[in-house]
Amino acid sequence: MSPVSGAFSAEARLIHAGTCRVLGQPVTPPLVPASIFVASGEPRPARDYGRAGNPGWEALEEALGGLEDAEAVAFASGQAASMALMLALTRGRDRIVLPSDGYYGTRVLADRLRPHGAEPVPTDQQDLTAVERELNAAPSVLWAETPTNPLLRVADLSRLGELATAARAPMIVDNTVATGLLQRPLDFGATASLCSLTKSLSGHSDVILGAVVSRDPELLAELRAWRTSGGGIPGPFEAWLALRGLKTLPLRLARQCESAGLIAAHLSGHPRVRAVHYPGLAPSAAVRRQMTGGFGPLLSFEVNPGDSEAAADRVVASSRLILPATSFGGVESTWERRARWAGETAPDGLIRLSVGVEPVADLIGDIDGALNCLQTQPSTEVPSCA
Ligand SMILES: *Cc1c(COP(=O)(O)O)cnc(C)c1O
Repeated sequence: MSPVSGAFSAEARLIHAGTCRVLGQPVTPPLVPASIFVASGEPRPARDYGRAGNPGWEALEEALGGLEDAEAVAFASGQAASMALMLALTRGRDRIVLPSDGYYGTRVLADRLRPHGAEPVPTDQQDLTAVERELNAAPSVLWAETPTNPLLRVADLSRLGELATAARAPMIVDNTVATGLLQRPLDFGATASLCSLTKSLSGHSDVILGAVVSRDPELLAELRAWRTSGGGIPGPFEAWLALRGLKTLPLRLARQCESAGLIAAHLSGHPRVRAVHYPGLAPSAAVRRQMTGGFGPLLSFEVNPGDSEAAADRVVASSRLILPATSFGGVESTWERRARWAGETAPDGLIRLSVGVEPVADLIGDIDGALNCLQTQPSTEVPSCA
């Protein structure tokens, strides 16, 4: 534990996670690429083999847990974290009630695990009656995601939490888009929140990693056991990079949320855009209740003419600053036409934009320039604006 205690803010604790005050020692945790640690006889030391632990995980888990006043277990990726959660929670439960419009990788994973456990039940989580019906049909896990990737739909965590409690179903919230800095699902009754650290938490588009955050000691022990025996462990270098990135999370997200709000408002009035999805545009009561730290770096929009794959592809290819790439939360802005991925349920013409930390005027200029490629088009054809 770092010497910075609960007397200080969550942000101060995040920045100081893993720091050291011992004279002559490094201030931040060193990178320890060890597969084995000195060990012999009894008592067994805390670390003997690298699959069971690495000193670099500790500071990272302290930082992530601190964001939600809980404990964290880090994994090799967001998907490795999801898999451990699904394996841990579906024992004795028949189904995973998950969002029909959430991250497609979650649906693919739940489908793959079907022969080994529970049935995935895709459900519209805006429809609370449908969620309640599915939860009561058989012992279930409620797997929520909010805001959803890529449509940025917001599920009402307090209502979902009540339904889960009534049905005795553990509720998991995929908190990757908001992060624990903007939204704390455990405060709304979630048993665990899940984060891909690959996105905003690490923030520099250079690491794949994930984590689960929980206050349930039994679940935490179970997740660590799955990590050790399944082997989905964070690499020491990845953990070190993620901790380094996490220290600037509050600064990065403040800038990204502010710019994303301005860009969403700008796109809402744009003649070449027919729909914009961003939780901060006319925030609902649920958004105001649960996204207390900001509305996030991610938005999506649909270009005119609607459902036009080719038009959206042209726009994405026409930017000169925003990078055509997947993922989100990095300091560099990126965008992509989301339906280019097999299994994605987003509309064909939907562009997902991850707002980075570049000055917003540069981003708006680049977006307008890219959308201009649609301007001179003859009515039936998509223009070439190479
Ligand atoms: C990226 C992502 C994941 C998976 O994380 P990886 O680190 O890529 O394995 C899970 N959920 C959401 C919402 C994501 O965006």
